[in-house]
Amino acid sequence: MSTIGQFNKYVMHSYGRYDLVMDKGAHETATDEDGKEYIDFGSGIGTNSLGYCNDDWVNAVCEQVHKIQHTSNYYYTKVQADFAKSLCETAGYTNMFFGNSGAEANECAIKIARKYSFDKYGKGRHKIITLVNSFHGRTLCTLSATGQDVFHNYFFPFVEGFVNVEANNIADLREKLDDTVCAVMFEYIQGEGGVMALEKDFVDEIFKLCAEKDVLTIADEVQTGVGRSGKLLCGEHFGHKADLTTLAKGLAGGLPIGVCLSGEKCANVFTPGTHGSTFGGNPICCAGGLAVLNKVTFTGFLDEVTKKGEYFREKLLKIPEVKSVSGIGLMIGIELKSKNAGEVVKAALDKGLLLLTAKTKVRLLPPLTISYEEIDKGLTILEELFK
Ligand SMILES: *Cc1c(COP(=O)(O)O)cnc(C)c1O
Repeated sequence: MSTIGQFNKYVMHSYGRYDLVMDKGAHETATDEDGKEYIDFGSGIGTNSLGYCNDDWVNAVCEQVHKIQHTSNYYYTKVQADFAKSLCETAGYTNMFFGNSGAEANECAIKIARKYSFDKYGKGRHKIITLVNSFHGRTLCTLSATGQDVFHNYFFPFVEGFVNVEANNIADLREKLDDTVCAVMFEYIQGEGGVMALEKDFVDEIFKLCAEKDVLTIADEVQTGVGRSGKLLCGEHFGHKADLTTLAKGLAGGLPIGVCLSGEKCANVFTPGTHGSTFGGNPICCAGGLAVLNKVTFTGFLDEVTKKGEYFREKLLKIPEVKSVSGIGLMIGIELKSKNAGEVVKAALDKGLLLLTAKTKVRLLPPLTISYEEIDKGLTILEELFK
């Protein structure tokens, strides 16, 4: 039986997949079972931040596999301690919690926010404001947090206590941020929602109101974090640091990880027994994460990401079919004049280019290490597709 036939016989059909069997990869190029190559402008939805099988990352991960692959969270490992120190210090936070995915990182932040408020103010102050058009994950709680009605089906009842505010609508925010709210959760750039950056005024207002009311700010940087925007955290572009920041996608270069970073305010909200995750902080993932952090924080690396982002934007805006380009750094949304984004992505496969969509846009999340040569090759294919 073919790989696809076998897969579809046994695996639940929760994804609309392309007829493409990935076999291997190197740098920015993936290769399928038939040996056909694809330039990757999606990097596994922003996970393979250093591309495929980056040497330093492979070495760090393999070394850890040979040493110890996992131990329970009742013990300590050095690689976890090293990664936690490096991540907290470079991101400017005091503490963190280890999970395995973006959704889990967000669940952690939601639990911290509710307990912080409960410990200090008692019951009835548990609501969390999230934004219309946001995306926070696929678990029941993070789906409930997600501000898109299309996700609020079938799985009733959803978790209560989430209130949606329209992105960039300050009046709506002011009205809904009352005494029952313990946190405001947002993406600086809504990723799945169409690569839409929030307006600076609106973000300023979130931080101002939250500071006044001792309401926590939760930045979901699962997609925007770890250098994707040209800064380690996208919040730096806005001049803000949230009380809690969640990271996941690109953090360990393609290994499953999700973390919730906290400042001193929330550092001691969890006490033994109040939260956990069996695989959280897996040593192999931590080794991968350290390799990513070492690269991303290397002098000049993030400036390069910014430059490549600008290069992409400049070239894209010269293509007649391109109506506008959104996002920051190497998180890029392309609004098209007449073509359908989904069809463009499909057609790109034939031509050897991997793309993503976000709502009606074509979305690019290329590896942060992508070379100009590969950018040019990919853009040439894009230009053809847009003709
Ligand atoms: C992808 C994503 C998530 C969910 O991450 P998973 O690892 O799929 O659970 C949450 N928030 C944002 C902003 C994301 O882009």
